[in-house]
Amino acid sequence: MTDSVDEVVYPELSGKRVVVTGAGKGIGEGLVGALIKQSCFVIAISRTQSDLDKLREKYEDTQLQTVQLDISNWQEVESAFERLDPFHYLINNAGVSIVGPFLEVSENDYDSVFNVNVKAHLHVAQLSAKKMVSHNIKGVIVNMSSQASQKPLQDHTLYCCSKAAVDMLTRIMSLELGPKGIRTVSINPTVVLTQMGKMAWSDPVKSEPMLARIPLGKFAEVSDVIKPVLFCLSEGAAMVHGCHLPVDGGFLSL
Ligand code: NAP
Repeated sequence: MTDSVDEVVYPELSGKRVVVTGAGKGIGEGLVGALIKQSCFVIAISRTQSDLDKLREKYEDTQLQTVQLDISNWQEVESAFERLDPFHYLINNAGVSIVGPFLEVSENDYDSVFNVNVKAHLHVAQLSAKKMVSHNIKGVIVNMSSQASQKPLQDHTLYCCSKAAVDMLTRIMSLELGPKGIRTVSINPTVVLTQMGKMAWSDPVKSEPMLARIPLGKFAEVSDVIKPVLFCLSEGAAMVHGCHLPVDGGFLSL
């Protein structure tokens, strides 16, 4: 995370409780640090215990709770969310990608991607919204989507289709949760060279044509994604609801 994220301060976030899924690596890990910097209490959910141990080493217990959980396990997610104290915001960030040609998509690959990116995403959002409603919290849910939700990318059948579903989930949630005072937005980044981004885009044969399609001519940094997320949680975004916010250097404008 760069200093420029640390310079962004939203006093209204101070003391708020935030759940971040996929908190162990990449964008999620960056979000944990940025939210703690805003004086939030962060409930960091991720699959690999050693990633959570690293977060615990870095931050104080007073600012952070870690929960080791595979969000695609329906029953375990139900029990984990039952045990959580109420919270104000959910960053529904955990995601996976399997790349390969359309003609080679397998049932296992389909299930692996859709179980996390769509089914678990919906489930975590649903449980979070129920908790917010039952505690009369006017919360915010940010769904981590992608530019891939709106444009077909070579070898990204499952990822593109799953993120298109995330965008529609955001719109459905905005329709049904808006009247309950819960705002929902999608954030749609371009490539970020996290572990996931490197897996798909570190080969210049693939990255150069992609860069050529981005008017700003660069991929996003983790901090470029964090700052719009913080804005979406803030009071400045009080009427930002049901939309898909590109963080893509203009990729989707073409
Ligand atoms: P990443 O570096 O691969 O990190 C993903 C994190 O999510 C990891 O900590 C991973 O844990 C966790 N996770 C995955 N499946 C999980 C599950 N079933 N249960 C619990 N935790 C799980 O990915 P990233 O680049 O930060 O991506 C974060 C989000 O941004 C994703 O939704 C992704 O689709 C989206 N996004 C990424 C890019 C990009 O280019 N990187 C662009 C647009 C959107 P383990 O490692 O332990 O499995």
